[in-house]
Amino acid sequence: MISADEALQVILGAIEVLGLERLPLMSSLGRIVGEDIYAPYPIPSWDNSAMDGYAVIHKDIASASPENPARLEVVADLPAGYATARELKRGEAIRIMTGAPLPKGSDTVVMVEDTRKEKNQVAILKSPLQGENIRKAGEDVQKDSLVLSHGSIIHPADIGMLASLKRAVVSVYQKPTVAVVSTGDELIDVDGDLTEGKIVSSNTYSLASLVKDSGAHPLILGIAKDRPEELRAIFKAALTADMIISSGGVSVGDYDLVKDTLKELGAEMKFWKVAMRPGQPLAFGVIEGKPTFGLPGNPVSCMISFEQFVRPSILKAGGHKRLFRPLVEAELQESITKKAGKKYFMRCVISREEGKYIVTTTGAQGSGILMSMVKANGLIVVPEEKTTLPAGEIVKVYIMNRDFELSETPHAH
Ligand code: AMP
Ligand code: MG
Repeated sequence: MISADEALQVILGAIEVLGLERLPLMSSLGRIVGEDIYAPYPIPSWDNSAMDGYAVIHKDIASASPENPARLEVVADLPAGYATARELKRGEAIRIMTGAPLPKGSDTVVMVEDTRKEKNQVAILKSPLQGENIRKAGEDVQKDSLVLSHGSIIHPADIGMLASLKRAVVSVYQKPTVAVVSTGDELIDVDGDLTEGKIVSSNTYSLASLVKDSGAHPLILGIAKDRPEELRAIFKAALTADMIISSGGVSVGDYDLVKDTLKELGAEMKFWKVAMRPGQPLAFGVIEGKPTFGLPGNPVSCMISFEQFVRPSILKAGGHKRLFRPLVEAELQESITKKAGKKYFMRCVISREEGKYIVTTTGAQGSGILMSMVKANGLIVVPEEKTTLPAGEIVKVYIMNRDFELSETPHAH
């Protein structure tokens, strides 16, 4: 039996990063950029006015005051979106709107509030400093500067920046397709008959959702009975995906045939037992280049194994650089006991109180108790050698979602 840390290392060592695809800009939101993106031109592309007002020559207005205004001839009107070839000469002003390119010859913009219109002239009542109210070309982005680096996640502001740079198409890492296989004679689909002894294959849906939530496409292949020919057929069909996950059939029972099926299909099995709880049974191998995870059948075990091993693998395959959830320290609000020798991942509720994280378990931690996952927003990680943790102990917690940091009411600032 290998440790959870060793298992993770072996698995990640076997995961290859997928190739790139070119996507229209709006489809690239949330994807991983597969190229370094440089600005082909500066933004703003030309000096322009930061105010509605008058473009002037500073020397003409340097001593202007309400008592002694400077009077200039208004020779043109320049709305945003237009440029003028007219070069400003001494004694002249051009009426200019925010965003309009600064006319040649002018070096300052006087905002409209500091002026008074007088027929064809404008009286300047107050002088700004030379160069004021002008946005300089390249002050946002300089030509040839790096705006987005390879491997980063594309966020909404990045989309805006790419649009500003006329990048209608972006190279991103392909999304992994992950086949989801469920095994077991006892399973029915959500619309099946719940006759005695049957259960709904909730793993199909929780695992497919975890796949989606990790940024990959789930390919739901349904349920295979515990029969070699059905298992062979479903895993063969799964080979069209980039990665395969199954649940059930990996323990030591008479009907646990998944390991043998994977071996038959050519998987070099790396291990099938991990010193963790939940999630001890875990088959991992590579079939025809496709990483294949035989996850345990218990509804909690398969989700925890997914969290620890499959999610980082999907992220790696999809070009992510940061594969792991945030791990924080929190103060335990109850005492915990466990057996030595295995790493425990305990479902918990983490929250913030007076500037620190506090954490409680979700109660019953059985590997079949799906409610422990429903209630949980984190996982307390308890190292192998530990057996008791008293209340008040500082423990490590993986945060699975940060809903607890959202607020119903506006924040006080
Ligand atoms: P197994 O490892 O196949 O013996 O499965 C362990 C436990 O998980 C059994 O109680 C199964 O009924 C349950 N189980 C297996 N597959 C699923 C599934 N797809 N959805 C919900 N429970 C499952
Ligand atoms: Mg089974």
